[in-house]
Amino acid sequence: MLAYRHAFHAGNHADVLKHLVLDQVLRYMTAKDKPFRYIDTHAGAGGYLLKGAQAQKKAEYREGINRLWSRPDLPEAVADYVHLVQQFNLPAPEPGQPAPVLEKGMTPPLALYPGSPSIARLHARPGDSMRLFELHPSDARTLAAHFGGRQVQVINEDGFAGLKGQVPPTPRRALVLVDPSYELVADYGKVVATMRDAVQRFPEGVYVVWYPQIARVEAAQLPKRLMSLSPKGWLHVRMTVAQTDSQGFGLAGSGLFVINPPYTLHETLQGVMPFLVEVLAQYDGASYLIEEQPA
Ligand code: SAM
Repeated sequence: MLAYRHAFHAGNHADVLKHLVLDQVLRYMTAKDKPFRYIDTHAGAGGYLLKGAQAQKKAEYREGINRLWSRPDLPEAVADYVHLVQQFNLPAPEPGQPAPVLEKGMTPPLALYPGSPSIARLHARPGDSMRLFELHPSDARTLAAHFGGRQVQVINEDGFAGLKGQVPPTPRRALVLVDPSYELVADYGKVVATMRDAVQRFPEGVYVVWYPQIARVEAAQLPKRLMSLSPKGWLHVRMTVAQTDSQGFGLAGSGLFVINPPYTLHETLQGVMPFLVEVLAQYDGASYLIEEQPA
């Protein structure tokens, strides 16, 4: 049985990096007039109450989104991401009323954090569609309660196995987020096998794979293994903000490996990573890495 629940980590430094990159890729996908499908192999619950018992346990969001929330000096891409999270924090509209709009200069209190499906939904246009895999029954139920409609499918199944049946989609345009909990060490191998299969079936898809920076050889090797199966371009970004404890435990940082990245992503990240590392650093050695193989 799965023990991992993303609510314990919602809005932490790893979510900030992941969702900032996801936001940038979604902006690129929606800049073109053609519809696309968003496929989330490990969707989580879709949204999280930061005052809830799980998020409060270690209050990881305090060293993540909270450090960015009210800053007046955010670089554009960070401001765009924070703006999305602020929109998610606006009150739900009254029945029959239009959704409230975030006025310029207004900062709502930070009470909720959007999961990746909510970030995708904030960008989705009427012709776009979503496939959301989530294996944990209770998170899948929460997801299904908040995500419905003709264009969205919530699938309470294994996302590694499920991706096979989703690519290539029709029409052939998709963004795939692969964001496992890596609760089981076998997940690292599954990521590589799943990506190898997906890239063969659908080489032009845009894929974003998240991984943790922890003291485990499988985690350190993952980006190199993904490079070897990316036929066209790729981009790898990693942000280290914390020190592991004396036994080597803890999340030092995280990374994202993007296959077929938007051509603008490298420049955008070069502009924002120094700021992000400075603001999210939990020790003096905080750092980042960006590497790329252009298409
Ligand atoms: N993508 C989410 C976000 O950014 O908001 C967070 C996802 S969380 C890191 C990983 C999720 O994967 C957990 O909710 C966990 O229950 C779920 N999970 C674990 N193994 C899975 C599998 N084989 N297939 C689908 N979901 C799985």
